[in-house]
Amino acid sequence: MTSHNNELYQNRIMAVRQQLDTWGVDGVLISSPSNRRWLSGFTGSNAKLLLTKDAALLATDFRYWEQAAAQAPDFTLFKHQRRAEDDAAFFTAVSATHIGIEANHITLAEFERLQKATSHNWVSLAETVEPLRQVKTADEIATIAAAAAITDQAMAQVNTLARPGMSEQELAWILERTMRELGADEMAFAVIVASGPNAALPHHHPGERVLQAGDTLIVDMGAALHDYKSDMTRTFYLGNEPDTQFWTIYNLVLAAETAVLTHAKPGMNTKEIDALARDPITAAGHGDHFGHGLGHGVGLDIHENPFLSHLYEGKPVTAGMTVTVEPGIYIPGWGGVRIEDLCHVTDNGLESLSHCPKTPIIPC
Ligand code: ZN
Ligand code: ZN
Repeated sequence: MTSHNNELYQNRIMAVRQQLDTWGVDGVLISSPSNRRWLSGFTGSNAKLLLTKDAALLATDFRYWEQAAAQAPDFTLFKHQRRAEDDAAFFTAVSATHIGIEANHITLAEFERLQKATSHNWVSLAETVEPLRQVKTADEIATIAAAAAITDQAMAQVNTLARPGMSEQELAWILERTMRELGADEMAFAVIVASGPNAALPHHHPGERVLQAGDTLIVDMGAALHDYKSDMTRTFYLGNEPDTQFWTIYNLVLAAETAVLTHAKPGMNTKEIDALARDPITAAGHGDHFGHGLGHGVGLDIHENPFLSHLYEGKPVTAGMTVTVEPGIYIPGWGGVRIEDLCHVTDNGLESLSHCPKTPIIPC
């Protein structure tokens, strides 16, 4: 864990304070773990941040008082033992009448508790610091790149680890163990191993199905390091001679992915970048088989802004963002192919942080 960088956190606090007027509030309550981690540096499992123009409070319980003081020195520690009177004291400790809350992260029970505790006006905010988190610092990029390197090394072993007779679950566990041994703190998400017809399910949960010669195999996984995530997918073929359909679909997905890695530039919007991959896939008659977006931001959350998708309004992509590029084609009954790299948006275009070769054939 790198030491606390006061200037960085002061700048982030300032950036949030500058948004308060736009949000129509004079205070904001940050309760989502990733948002409070980004804004304060605190990594514990329970805390709330309350930020106004002139106050920055972090409320947490006895388990975390020492940790919070060490990790989040830019925030004043408020000792909160989760009693109703602690809530009342916490919110009246600052001068604010309208307090923004994170509508996507707060539960109905928590909201009802707030309403009971004090008579503040609670303002529902769809996003708070998420748009600010999109552009990463050099340190954040370095951590994400290190998490991607662990994923690379584990993925590079699939060619020798995956054997007919082994179940999806067994392979998923071996890959998880490998990433932990390579230094991952934890998995960014549960390892996806989808074999044969299961490869037609983009987020298949690995089960008891046994790998067989002639299977297509999708492996999608990522290591997490210091709370930052990574994400990569490779598609394999178990056997020496795939049929023409495998190569047709594989090469189409690879060409679509390569088009994005080559032509995406900062300043383009998320929809235009999605189209770089979607257009050739649609032109080849597989538009309906590519049902998800092209990619997503990756950072403290595995899926975060920006979302590269045809389904949402386009927003400009800027240097410093980290995004996945992951076109896929899924054909029910046959299987599927997805290839995913994690990229850093630079001034010149996309720089891939994933380096594992794209060599699908696993001879057996
Ligand atoms: Zn993935
Ligand atoms: Zn992904």
